[in-house]
Amino acid sequence: MSSVADNIRKIRDDIVEAARRAHRDPSGVRLMGVTKTVDDQRIDEAIRTGLDIIGENYVQEGKRKIEAMGKTLEWHLIGHLQTNKCKYAVRLFDMIHSVDRLKLARELDKRAGIAGTTMDILVEVNVSGEESKSGVTLQAALPLIREISTFEHIKVKGLMTMPPWFDDPEDARPYFVDLRKLGARIAKENIPGVEMKELSMGMSQDYRVAVEEGATIVRIGTAIFGERSYV
Ligand SMILES: *Cc1c(COP(=O)(O)O)cnc(C)c1O
Repeated sequence: MSSVADNIRKIRDDIVEAARRAHRDPSGVRLMGVTKTVDDQRIDEAIRTGLDIIGENYVQEGKRKIEAMGKTLEWHLIGHLQTNKCKYAVRLFDMIHSVDRLKLARELDKRAGIAGTTMDILVEVNVSGEESKSGVTLQAALPLIREISTFEHIKVKGLMTMPPWFDDPEDARPYFVDLRKLGARIAKENIPGVEMKELSMGMSQDYRVAVEEGATIVRIGTAIFGERSYV
């Protein structure tokens, strides 16, 4: 079995190659290690090898790990967030990728204000429109971002998506293209306080394609840490 460090090195190489194919600067792509269910020892190995970001799906699990491991790099929340967890999330995480409704944004704004911070967020877009997926629709993204832009304590930094799962990662390409185009369209609106610099897209299966289409953060679990075991 290959080690966490070997896996990360291989993924880094792949990212560089994919960026070059698309005539992009590879330093514009950050590697997130997605650590749901992963034990602390392997997370530690990954951090030492040189991840840019750790991504956690759950506030509770993230809290425990951040307290155990310290904040030597950025920790982002990528999973579905309930409004009653916002007060913890704003104190723990450097960015939240899963903002997909006004009520959640409003609560994050309030809690960030109380905590005396400004929370960086991404708006999650359900590009495929699958009912099982969270995320705002392509059509609703701009109106939502306009409303969020009026909040003082949260700042929109870009977009996040999760395409459907395909055997062939090429099939995910149109969804990445749609997210990039949406980001470009929103950027043209020049909404005060809104930046469209991040595209959080690409996972173990399809990160090469995502980088070719403009990803700035790839979120990778299995390809770094192996299959997850849910107990
Ligand atoms: C689990 C997860 C990932 C990582 O998935 P892998 O296929 O294991 O790389 C990325 N993004 C989100 C939102 C996830 O929940």
